[in-house]
Amino acid sequence: MSSMQIIPPALERLIKSLSSLPGVGAKTATRLALNILRRPVSDARELADALAQLHSSIQLCSRCMTFSETDPCAVCADQRRDASIICVVEQPSDLMAIEKTDGYRGHYHILHGVLSPVDGIGPEEIKIKELLARIQSNTVAEVFIATSSTVPGEATASYLIDRLQPFPIRLTRLACGIPMGMDIKYADQYTLAKAIESRSNVLKNP
Ligand SMILES: [Zn+2]
Repeated sequence: MSSMQIIPPALERLIKSLSSLPGVGAKTATRLALNILRRPVSDARELADALAQLHSSIQLCSRCMTFSETDPCAVCADQRRDASIICVVEQPSDLMAIEKTDGYRGHYHILHGVLSPVDGIGPEEIKIKELLARIQSNTVAEVFIATSSTVPGEATASYLIDRLQPFPIRLTRLACGIPMGMDIKYADQYTLAKAIESRSNVLKNP
C-alpha cells in the first residue's frame, strides 16, 4: 500500500490485475505492465480488445465441454473422428497436448478440474454428470481416462472407474510412461503418443 504514492493508480490497477494470474508474481506483473505502457497505444488496445472478446465469443461446447467459438466444437463436429471413443481429460490444455501427438482420433470430454476434497472440489464441481449423460444417451464404446498421474488425477480416475463400471463400455487408462506426478500437458509428444497407443484396459470388478 505504501507504493500507492509512487505508482500511478492506473498502473497499480493493471499490476494488481496481472498479478492475480497464476504464476505471475508482483515482480513479473510490474514488468509486464511497464512493458505494455512503453509500447504503442495500439498494442494496449489490441490486448484490451482480446480480453474483452474472450467471454463474448468463446463458450463451452455443449458436448465435450471444451472452450470453443462454435457449438459443437471443431472436434465434436468432425465427421471423420470416432465418436464411440471419449477421452476424458482435466483441462482444454490437455486436449491440445493430445491433439499435438496426432495419435488420437476419437472425441473428448473436459472435466475442468480434478477431484480434490481438501479444496472443496467434489464430483459436482467438475463436469462428471455431463460425462455420464453422454454415456447414457450416446453410442459410446470406450471411455479412455487420461487424467494426470498426480494424486488428484489418480483419485479422479478411480472415482470415474467406479462410476462407469455399470456401463457396457470398454474402460481404458493412459498407459505408464508418463512419470508419476506429471501433468500430461508437460509430457513430451513422443511419450504421450506412446501412452495413448498402449492405453490399457481398466480392470473391472466382477
Ligand atoms: Zn466439443
